[in-house]
Amino acid sequence: MEFTQIRYEKRGPVAWITMDRPAKRNAQSVPMTYELNEAFDLAAQDHDVSVVVLAASGPHFSAGHDIADPHRYEDPGHSVSTWADWAAPGAEGRNAREHEIYFDMCKRWRNFSKPTIAAVQGKCIGGGLMLAWSCDLIMAAEDAVFLDPVVNLGIAGVEWFAHPWELGPRRAKELLMTAESWDARLAESVGMVNHVVPVDELHARTQQLAERIASKPQFAVKMVKQSVNAATDAQGQPAAMMTAYAFHQLGHSHNMELHGLPLDPSGIAASTGKAPAAG
Ligand code: ZN
Repeated sequence: MEFTQIRYEKRGPVAWITMDRPAKRNAQSVPMTYELNEAFDLAAQDHDVSVVVLAASGPHFSAGHDIADPHRYEDPGHSVSTWADWAAPGAEGRNAREHEIYFDMCKRWRNFSKPTIAAVQGKCIGGGLMLAWSCDLIMAAEDAVFLDPVVNLGIAGVEWFAHPWELGPRRAKELLMTAESWDARLAESVGMVNHVVPVDELHARTQQLAERIASKPQFAVKMVKQSVNAATDAQGQPAAMMTAYAFHQLGHSHNMELHGLPLDPSGIAASTGKAPAAG
């Protein structure tokens, strides 16, 4: 597959998957989502790859979902889940689309067999959090700023609702209810990121950490990941996230009833001055 939205390269035993839409602040379009997934598959099948890094070109990690993409509702015709028929009317099509490209895609990456590290600089907003949180470890540059602002748009949180585990329940409530951003130091203090490093050292330090993990017996490393993920699974994370996803869809439907749009237009107008296209 020819990649146009991302770059894929190997540095020793580490595969670097780099989102490469800096002019769009790496907003997550549908084509980018599928290219990311193809790249993860490539790394999974490559015996020489032990660790995967998810990085971003330009000053920002990701501005979130690309709601300006004019093709965002066109079903790409291939599915990692069985949720197809994005053009179905009412909530059905939207649920199918968001199940496939957001919820199930993040779940697939979170359960990826090899260890993954996100390298985050600049803004990491909304759907950008979902990409970073799907990874096992997160390295943050000192300038990293995190934000899930979707309460402004009449929605409880992004589709992959890992906030209580990433931030702790009380912080999660405050940051979601106020739609306030948090910096790399706060993210480190609550355990959301592993290390905070100078911006110009982010990629070198991430490679160092990846090589350190790659030097260990790989099956044991994979079983560490499975064991820790099993702990959050045993806490009920999958069921809680599925419930939150359903509330997310309820929010879109509520906005459709009130505003004829899946997002509350007052929040979008306040933050961007533009009318919303979709959710
Ligand atoms: Zn949504």
